[in-house]
Amino acid sequence: MTVRDILHLAATRLANAGCDTPRLDAELLLMHVWHASRTELFTRAYEPLASDIQDTFEQLISRRARREPLAYITGEREFWSRPFRVTPDVLIPRPETEHMIEAVLSRFPDRHGHYRFCDIGTGSGCIAITLAAEYPHASVVATDISASALNVARDNAERLGTAARMSFRCADMLMALHRGEDGPFDAILSNPPYVTAAEMDGLEPELDAEPRHALTDEHDGLTFLTTIVNEAPAWLTETGYIMVETGPCGLPSLPPVLTLDEEVRDLAGHLRGAVYQRN
Ligand code: GLN
Repeated sequence: MTVRDILHLAATRLANAGCDTPRLDAELLLMHVWHASRTELFTRAYEPLASDIQDTFEQLISRRARREPLAYITGEREFWSRPFRVTPDVLIPRPETEHMIEAVLSRFPDRHGHYRFCDIGTGSGCIAITLAAEYPHASVVATDISASALNVARDNAERLGTAARMSFRCADMLMALHRGEDGPFDAILSNPPYVTAAEMDGLEPELDAEPRHALTDEHDGLTFLTTIVNEAPAWLTETGYIMVETGPCGLPSLPPVLTLDEEVRDLAGHLRGAVYQRN
């Protein structure tokens, strides 16, 4: 069979399995096993595919047809134009989380500043490592309650060359921070588990493959956001910022020391996050 026919069959199979983007997923998986560019899929469309590559490709298509997320199959997902290694121990970085990076870049325009940043619940490390990479003189503390997630984050920091300016701490939320050693921070960021228990029912099967404790607080979505707005101010500089991602659960009520600096909304007008500052 030719590349073109194999792709067509694979895309049909993924469509029947209910995948959202069957053709794209089939192309990305073939690029992955064939080590080919997107262009090659078209310029070599009428070539036969070597049978060992075809076998491997079919195994990956079967996994995707069982609705395993594409990023876990390829082991990689791009965030802010850099490749991050991902495993089922970490949440797959989402494009909407890039607004957190934009929020930092717009408030800290000096790329050579010696800033201190902190990322609570770092997962793959996508937020923390992107900041360390965009600010070559910044130091970044990344925390996560999961030791296996932190291993993935550390590995990403090594691969992306930011590890020397980062510390990784394994504990719940801000309990991972050490007085006298960490902070005060110019910004504390977090994309906490904010999906409500009710929303977890009836989500696409792909989400079942992700660590549940990284998605939901099994409650109203506000548990971790509330902890952050209450505990993070003590770790900020006078002018420091707290930046959080959120979803339909909305935003937590604020302690008197904080004011809302910006409500982040996506193009559809949905609430996506918030930026706070100390009064
Ligand atoms: N900080 C990581 C991300 O934004 C992980 C977040 C999480 O596990 N809730 O993708």
